[in-house]
This record gives sequence, structure tokens and C-alpha cells, in this order.
Amino acid sequence: MRARYKPWAADFIKENTDIVLPEPSQYFGKWREYFSNDAPLHLEIGTGKGQFIKGMAKQYPNDNFVGIEIVESIIVSAVQKIKKKQLSNVRLLNEDAMDLTSIFAENEIDMIYLNFSDPWPKNRHEKRRLTFPYFLKQYQQLLKPEGKVVLKTDNRGFFEYSLASMSQYGCIFDEVSLDLHELEDPTNVMTEYEEKFAAKGQPIYRLIAHIPK
Ligand code: SAM
Repeated sequence: MRARYKPWAADFIKENTDIVLPEPSQYFGKWREYFSNDAPLHLEIGTGKGQFIKGMAKQYPNDNFVGIEIVESIIVSAVQKIKKKQLSNVRLLNEDAMDLTSIFAENEIDMIYLNFSDPWPKNRHEKRRLTFPYFLKQYQQLLKPEGKVVLKTDNRGFFEYSLASMSQYGCIFDEVSLDLHELEDPTNVMTEYEEKFAAKGQPIYRLIAHIPK
């Protein structure tokens, strides 16, 4: 996701620590305690400007949502959205998803969303793809046994790679769609990228999978 460099972003994040939590590892194993309820915990990796997580938090007001976004100039747009709607069931982390296991405990998460993740098409960058086995191992540890990974993308190469990588890892697919919008799923919340690509008539691919322990 491209974003204009925003020199004020770092300060804005520091001023909004009620939404962008600093030092998230302090909540390891205590996310339900933090949200003061026992509701399902959803994690979005690569939240971007926050349209999906805001929409999901409104659609499921009793569930809890955490979004991780590594780029300061991008996450600030998500902070603004959450702030404006005063959503108390969403928190954001300005972190790299490389080390999720220091932030969340085993079996702590119900759903993981990978929305329009960077495809990293060059072979030498395979390790950076969010469906590389290193990441799948983290998801397997963090998800509850009945938990699921939901991946949406416009990128056919990344979708095919993810199907192969996840299948080899032992994931079981609950859904594989080559044209999500044809399904007319009324529960689908669109991301910024999804809206952009769908408007151009491009198919959106979606898979839903669980990862046996
Ligand atoms: N999910 C949004 C959407 O669908 O509109 C944004 C998609 S954008 C292509 C991918 C986002 O993932 C970017 O904002 C990028 O900064 C973020 N990202 C990529 N790798 C990441 C990582 N390792 N940890 C956290 N965020 C990451």
C-alpha cells in the first residue's frame, strides 16, 4: 500500500496510545482480560488504512479486533477511523508481523485475516510472503483448534502460492473461491484494495482454512 510520507505520524501514534498500543507483548495471554470480556479475538495482519477492521468491528460489536500494520504513515489513517467511530472493540499495533508469538499466546486467537497481503512475486522474497511456512507455524500456534485463516487477494500468483504452501503445510480448506463477489456473501466486509480492484472488474480470490495442530 502506498502512502505519502507523513512527518506527523510518529507523534500522532504516541498521542493515541489508547488505540495504538505500545509494547503489545505486555498483553501476551491477557487479551481477553484487556478487553474485559470473553469474546472471540480476531487478528488482521497488514491492516492498511483500516477500512476492513472498522467495518468488522461495527458488524460484530461484541467481538474483539486487533490490527497489525507496520507502516506509520499508513496506520494513522486506521487510527483516525477508529477514533471517529469511537470503537472500543478495536486496537491497533504498529508492529511487524514477524514476531506474533511474543504478542499472542497459544490458542488465544479465533480468526486471522490476510487481506491483499503484499505478494512479493520475486522468488528471492518468498520468505516475506505471509503464507510462507514460517508464518503458518505462528498462525497454527496462536489459533484455537477451531480457528481459521481467511485470505483475500486480487493477485492470482500469490493466491496459487498460498494454496500450495498452505496445502503442503497441512491446512484444510473450508472454502476456495475464484470470484468472491459472485458469491454475494452479505457478511463480506470490503477492504480498500478490494473496493479498488472490484471496481475495475477484477476477480477477488478468497480462501478460508484451518490448520490442524
Ligand atoms: N489490508 C489492506 C487492504 O486490503 O486494503 C492493505 C493491503 S496492502 C497491499 C498490505 C499492507 O500490509 C500494507 O499496508 C503493508 O504495510 C502491510 N504489511 C506488509 N507486511 C507486513 C508485516 N510484516 N507486518 C505488518 N504489516 C505488514
